[in-house]
Amino acid sequence: MKVLSPGFTLFMKRYRIGFVAAAIIIIALFELSFGMASGSIVDFMKNDIVRPAYNIVLIFLSAFMFLIAIISYPKIYKFKILLSAYALLAFFICYLIVSNTTGSSIGIGDFKVDFWRDASRFTLKFLISVLSLNFLATVLVQSTMNYNKGKNIALTVFFINMAVCFFVFVLIEGNYFLDRTTKTGFIKFAGDFVDMFNHYALPVNFIMFIAMAVLSVFNIEEEHNYGSIIMALASLNFYLLIPLILNPNGVGYYKFKLMLPVMAIIIIIGIFVHWMSCLHHKAHYDPLLKIYNRQHMDSIISGEEDVRLGSNFSVLMCDIDHFKDVNDTYGHAAGDEVLFRIAQIIRDTSLPEGVVCRYGGEEIIVFLRDKTDDEALSKAEKIRKAVKKESVRYKNKTIKVTMSIGLASTKKGLESFKKMIKTADDNVYKAKKRGRDRVVAG
Ligand code: GH3
Ligand code: MG
Ligand code: MG
Repeated sequence: MKVLSPGFTLFMKRYRIGFVAAAIIIIALFELSFGMASGSIVDFMKNDIVRPAYNIVLIFLSAFMFLIAIISYPKIYKFKILLSAYALLAFFICYLIVSNTTGSSIGIGDFKVDFWRDASRFTLKFLISVLSLNFLATVLVQSTMNYNKGKNIALTVFFINMAVCFFVFVLIEGNYFLDRTTKTGFIKFAGDFVDMFNHYALPVNFIMFIAMAVLSVFNIEEEHNYGSIIMALASLNFYLLIPLILNPNGVGYYKFKLMLPVMAIIIIIGIFVHWMSCLHHKAHYDPLLKIYNRQHMDSIISGEEDVRLGSNFSVLMCDIDHFKDVNDTYGHAAGDEVLFRIAQIIRDTSLPEGVVCRYGGEEIIVFLRDKTDDEALSKAEKIRKAVKKESVRYKNKTIKVTMSIGLASTKKGLESFKKMIKTADDNVYKAKKRGRDRVVAG
């Protein structure tokens, strides 16, 4: 019955491993396939049918990515998601334009500009670096902001990305190829810029990547896979730089080309998973107490929720003593604050093996995974003592409460959830009758 230990699941969540693991597998598969058949892959990509088909696939994926980003935004209000999708979109559009105008020339004023004929793949390294910068900004910005403000900022970032890339490609990269010794200062500047950029691209990107990894680990607020999605994309983006530097005109370029659709697919799946997870969270979460709600408890009972309670589990029913008096003496708002603090204490004391749900008004139920009777009893005592010890400060007043806990466990042969909850409830009643501030197991 028990597949993964809760510790492992928590570790995965805490360090946002899910999508990053997928990225590592993709990189390994890429290296393996190119190691075994780089010749055939390159021939395939150069094929006259595959080349235009590739453009169509990338345009289709870009459109789909854009659609899912703007459709999901009003539902999940996650500015970071919108920002990263727009950054990737600008990246794809710039790449599609420059890769399909290779070798063409245009004249702007005194400058004769050659589009994208860079043998050292400056263009691609520049695009990768701009995307890294966007991802770094995405990790740094706040997750939620005013709806319209977020939409406008993301759109502005999109146009800034496009403008920067075009300025650099048309004016700087275009002039790089002209004879620097005899031409104007700007041409010399363009040449120096490209040379310097090629020199520092790898260390600068490496620093951005490490900064992003560290920030995403420390930013531990629950963001429904978001950190893992952005780190997976950033890892793939950084990985691409190495073959591009080692082998810019051969395998490196084709790895880059093949990776773009993969990145689009990852962000599309990522937004979808994030979206679903946010909806689920909203439906199963109590916004006041910041623990799960009754609906979540019901789906644990019906087996809908994959919580893996194991073969030996216990149910604790917690009810605050004389809570009505707290409301009457200090007011309802003070009562809310006490309730919130108590819920946090129960949650923190029950972790990692407890699932904590709001059962009713001031009743909280805890499902303890894989606990023997004695362990569950000592856990319940630990919760009771922690609540008794707590002093809640509210508007210069100190409020102290106690709690009665009723316990039921599978060991007593109570197979059905309903029976267990009923027993736990009856035990709360016994605890109240026996003087409150105690745990009753029987
Ligand atoms: P005891 O359990 O010790 O028998 O006494 P009690 O006063 O706690 O009694 P009971 O559990 O029946 O009362 C629950 C009270 O909790 C009633 C209601 O006013 C209060 N309550 C329920 N939900 C909330 C809430 O969300 N916020 C606040 N402030 N009070 C709540
Ligand atoms: Mg009650
Ligand atoms: Mg009560």
